[in-house]
Amino acid sequence: MVCTVTVSVPDFVQSVLGRLQKSGFEAWVVGGCVRDSLLGRVPQDWDVTTSAVPEEIKHCFAGYRVIETGIAHGTVTVISGGKPVEVTAYRVDGTYSDSRHPDFVTFTRSLHEDLARRDFTVNAMAFCESEGLRDDFGGREDLARQVIRCVGSPKRRFDEDALRILRALRFASVLNFSVESKTAEAVRACAGQLHSVAAERIFSEWNKLLCGKGAEAVLCEFPTVPAVFFEELRPLLEDPAARRQTAECVCRAPTEKSLRTALLFRALRGYDAEEQAALAQNALRRLHAEHKMIVRVGALIRTELPESVSLPVIRRLLGRNGEELFSAQLALLRAEGRTDTAAAERLKTEILAREDCISLPQLALKGNDLPGAGKRTGMLLNAALSAVMDGLVPNRKADLLQYLAQLQSDETEQ
Ligand code: ATP
Ligand code: MG
Repeated sequence: MVCTVTVSVPDFVQSVLGRLQKSGFEAWVVGGCVRDSLLGRVPQDWDVTTSAVPEEIKHCFAGYRVIETGIAHGTVTVISGGKPVEVTAYRVDGTYSDSRHPDFVTFTRSLHEDLARRDFTVNAMAFCESEGLRDDFGGREDLARQVIRCVGSPKRRFDEDALRILRALRFASVLNFSVESKTAEAVRACAGQLHSVAAERIFSEWNKLLCGKGAEAVLCEFPTVPAVFFEELRPLLEDPAARRQTAECVCRAPTEKSLRTALLFRALRGYDAEEQAALAQNALRRLHAEHKMIVRVGALIRTELPESVSLPVIRRLLGRNGEELFSAQLALLRAEGRTDTAAAERLKTEILAREDCISLPQLALKGNDLPGAGKRTGMLLNAALSAVMDGLVPNRKADLLQYLAQLQSDETEQ
């Protein structure tokens, strides 16, 4: 079915379509960019699908910069106007023996067949200026009804590639859609097959899911899916009340994956923060998270804020964690329902505006101001910093030297 709908295809993509079409091939923008355009969202990237086979695509773009990364699957990246456009030959996926990637792909001259291999109806639409929208599987209707529905039999599609189970939930969360009932049923029935999917693929979809607008509903309705790859969270996910409360808490937090992951693990009952951090970091390592994220989640899980805060307390927390992490920690506490973070926030702003000394590099005293201190240099500098943060001594070299001299003479007297 061809409908009268318009997608504004940017020039750098239109020129790729034009070049293929002038050579006698069909060429369409397809998938996420069409879906997002119809939803009035800005597409993140533009994918092109064409009746040309890879050799023909390469021939059309002689003289362009072309990257052949996915050529075995029929994809080449064409650099057009300085931007990458993925051009893929119409293809039908072969058999799946590992529910990960097709054992082989076959090229076809039929757009219908290419659309049929795509995961969800909303992702299986194509557009080109001369033909308009091509929507063979009811994608537009599903967009209007805000549902994620598999193209074809959900069970079969999940058996072919188990990642689609998580992609269904990712799109439901990001678009704030519901999952059509047969697709939902198959998501639940097939969840265990996610065991066969590479950790990186799972983790990338999961993070998008966790930061989506509809994450709360997805976590409440499909808890058995994350339980497959976050075994540690199983007790929490299996308890309906705890699950709902945690899902609400996660969705009150800013859309940042580390923050939301930390909130999930902090909700695990029966563990202290150190144990929760160890469980989270272990899970993240297994999912091949970046080192930076593993460290950050640990620090966020260890968040602590005394009930009564003062300038010295906040100076120390800020000095230890840095402004960015400390602000994230306050956001985490707010999401958990702590109502007393405003005072900490106010003190933080005050400390930063005044540029209070909260770290050794800011201290007006350096190691070489303490000749002869030897091994005690570090300890003395830290004692001076501590006194400055407590407001006992101004951050001036002369005052600090005097303070340390006094400290040392007190020590000798004792
Ligand atoms: P995003 O906005 O996140 O990029 P997208 O829909 O473009 O969303 P991609 O992962 O970039 O998602 O995939 C591009 C298109 O390829 C999809 O819209 C879909 O048509 C198809 N596709 C991607 N992964 C699969 C899969 N595992 N099974 C079937 N089709 C897929
Ligand atoms: Mg995409």
